[in-house]
Amino acid sequence: MQLKIENLSKTYSNGVQALKDVSLTINQGMFGLLGPNGAGKSSLMRTIATLQEADSGSVQLDTIDVLRQKEEVRKILGYLPQEFGVYPRVSAETMLDHIADLKGIGNSRERKEIVAGLLQKVNLYDVRKKNIGTYSGGMKQRFGIAQALIGNPKLIIVDEPTAGLDPAERNRFHNLLSEIGENTIVILSTHIVEDVTNLCSDMAIICLGEVVAKGNPNELVASLNGKVFRKLIEKPELDQYRADYQVISSSLKMGKTQIRVVADELLMGFEAATPDLEDVYFAEITARQGLAV
Ligand code: ADP
Repeated sequence: MQLKIENLSKTYSNGVQALKDVSLTINQGMFGLLGPNGAGKSSLMRTIATLQEADSGSVQLDTIDVLRQKEEVRKILGYLPQEFGVYPRVSAETMLDHIADLKGIGNSRERKEIVAGLLQKVNLYDVRKKNIGTYSGGMKQRFGIAQALIGNPKLIIVDEPTAGLDPAERNRFHNLLSEIGENTIVILSTHIVEDVTNLCSDMAIICLGEVVAKGNPNELVASLNGKVFRKLIEKPELDQYRADYQVISSSLKMGKTQIRVVADELLMGFEAATPDLEDVYFAEITARQGLAV
């Protein structure tokens, strides 16, 4: 199974061009779509999930024309949106049963089995009778995954799933996602670089509606070998460094400010640094948006 997005563009009625000629080929496994807030990730996810129209371009999932054969897509799609509204006074078990019914699983015994299996998979079986409103953020996200998995989807879209989760919850959620990613296409849209580093074998970076980098995360990192340098400076010097160099990030280190810079050769007074995916991300973003963190 393969998802092929070609030359997809979308301008909203207020004039914001959210997608500019986006082309991506996505294979089975976990695909990370990384970009800052407002980059166009949700616009792209909602378009693939048949929830909104594009102005031009095409999206093909094997033989299915995604932009036209919406019913066909919905049968094989699992979608966990950014804002996942749940009915707080309904138990997880009842809610999943209801969603399975809506997805066309009419036989109640079959539904019961599917729901029990999913609750076990996402580790909510013991709390299946509790109202969803009493769940923690991480439990709600796992419930969201369970509902997205009903009907064995071939394409799963998860939009900003780890925002608001504590580290342990995030870890559990990552493990769950990577299990699922083995024989489906899972698109993980996020602004958190670490989510992609830990999980994805293929990725793209999107900024201001455009794909600015794509490929295997390790290869993208390798493209910065020998080009990232760091230096400890005093905070008031930061503006001057930003004016003189391509500063891609800054962080506090023992009361000083450590900057990371991209350059073609070793800079006087700087130290060579080992590049990581965050460097790739910030190098792409700062080159376009001009704001270093
Ligand atoms: P992301 O998911 O990466 O944060 P979005 O796709 O939500 O990005 O947004 C991309 C751009 O489109 C932003 O500038 C956003 O303000 C704008 N936008 C998103 N949805 C709408 C909409 N329904 N109407 C108008 N502008 C929108």
